[in-house]
Amino acid sequence: MIIDLLYLIAAVCFILALKGLSSPDSASSGNWIGIAGMVFACAAAYLSTDISDAIWTLFAICIGGGIGIYITKSVSMTSLPQMVAAFHSLVGMAAVLVAFSAYYAPNIFKIIDKLENIYKSSLIEMGLGVAIGAITFSGSLIAFAKLHEIYKGNAVPKELNAFLGSSVLCLIFYFVMTESSGAFLLIALFSFILGATLIMPIGGADMPVVVSMLNSYSGWAASGIGFTLHNDLLIITGALVGSSGAILSYIMCKGMNRSLLNVIFPSGQDVSGSKKSNAVRPFKQGSPEDAAFILKNAKSVIVVPGYGMATSQAQHALKEMSDLLKKNGTTVRYAIHPVAGRMPGHMNVLLAEANVPYDDVFELDEINRDFATCDVAYVIGANDVTNPAAKNDPSSSIYGMPIFEVDKAKIVLFLKRSMGTGYAGVDNELFYAQNTMMLLGDAKKTTEAIVKAL
Ligand code: NAP
Repeated sequence: MIIDLLYLIAAVCFILALKGLSSPDSASSGNWIGIAGMVFACAAAYLSTDISDAIWTLFAICIGGGIGIYITKSVSMTSLPQMVAAFHSLVGMAAVLVAFSAYYAPNIFKIIDKLENIYKSSLIEMGLGVAIGAITFSGSLIAFAKLHEIYKGNAVPKELNAFLGSSVLCLIFYFVMTESSGAFLLIALFSFILGATLIMPIGGADMPVVVSMLNSYSGWAASGIGFTLHNDLLIITGALVGSSGAILSYIMCKGMNRSLLNVIFPSGQDVSGSKKSNAVRPFKQGSPEDAAFILKNAKSVIVVPGYGMATSQAQHALKEMSDLLKKNGTTVRYAIHPVAGRMPGHMNVLLAEANVPYDDVFELDEINRDFATCDVAYVIGANDVTNPAAKNDPSSSIYGMPIFEVDKAKIVLFLKRSMGTGYAGVDNELFYAQNTMMLLGDAKKTTEAIVKAL
């Protein structure tokens, strides 16, 4: 009774945690509610273990908790995506191990009938659990290696993935029909290979979508474990993680105007990095002193941060600049695009780290109309999220992606190192516009120089 109650409280905590995490100002409390939910879940798991195993359970909780605290304290903000990928691999491996335990000791899991045969429903859960778990495990490891830049990726023939995928499905069917241990081992082996070959060809910059998708897989794997272990909390939590990961992947793809299928099965075109533009066209270049003069005379400024702000770590200098401008009576607001940077919430996290007030931060729909009435758009390390080709050029790969209409501002200050393109590899007409001033150089150094000049 007490255990069921603890599981129920934990499940409610996880749902409230997700709700809290959906907005920056409630994210911190959402995180604490999630931690409380996990404490209740661990307490319930501990109380439900046999007394002889209780010491091992306590030992596992302490070791796992200790490693978790150490990792979260030592990992830097910019390494969060690979940390998340590494954690997903553990969920995948847990699903594989539980499925194997259930297969080799079905009596302990109470999943056998009077004739000592494993229930068909449990065989389906095991087959799917081991396949999803193994794909999540190896896929997450490859995603980790790519995000950590220790592996660049390889092309994989689509036929190989098709062969592996259909083999896994046939093997699951055969396993459910025959309970064959050989088929069970082959499901695991083929799925481990499939997880790796699916992720290997995907471009480095698409990894955030992949990580979110693997997050979703790990949730479904956990849900599968929940069915095998007859644990309602795991089923609920797994379903929450599975569906939220799927929704997040969808939102990211929509923000990039790409389909999930196009991300998972890339066309072979490299979209993973900044390319140099071949065009030699006249453009206006300014100095930090010019920019300081313009900003000093502006009544309203909208800052558009992007991936370049993250790589140069310019957020603190930016906050310093905003504070100086505010003291001067200027209104300073920040405009965050849903896919700015390289992971969801990338810009929000960096701005929060620099103590930028939440009230100054606006989403695309909330602020886009205000560019028309603002004096300066300060575009710092952003590119694609401002590119008018998304509106004007139907042949462009980013056509249809919603963008900030920074071109409508009186003056656009563009901070980047070169005239090169962004992630999508598309030239940006805005660099050559009449009202644009390019401030070429590292975003942090340029902003620091502006602060000095101000
Ligand atoms: P972006 O289009 O990739 O542009 C970033 C710009 O920053 C580059 O043009 C680069 O130009 C500049 N830059 C790099 N390092 C810099 C430095 N140290 N100082 C100054 N500038 C620097 O980035 P974005 O506008 O943020 O757009 C994000 C892109 O990523 C979108 O295409 C989106 O679809 C994609 N994406 C986002 C997510 C997500 O979840 N957020 C996930 C997957 C893909 P230089 O090289 O000339 O300096």
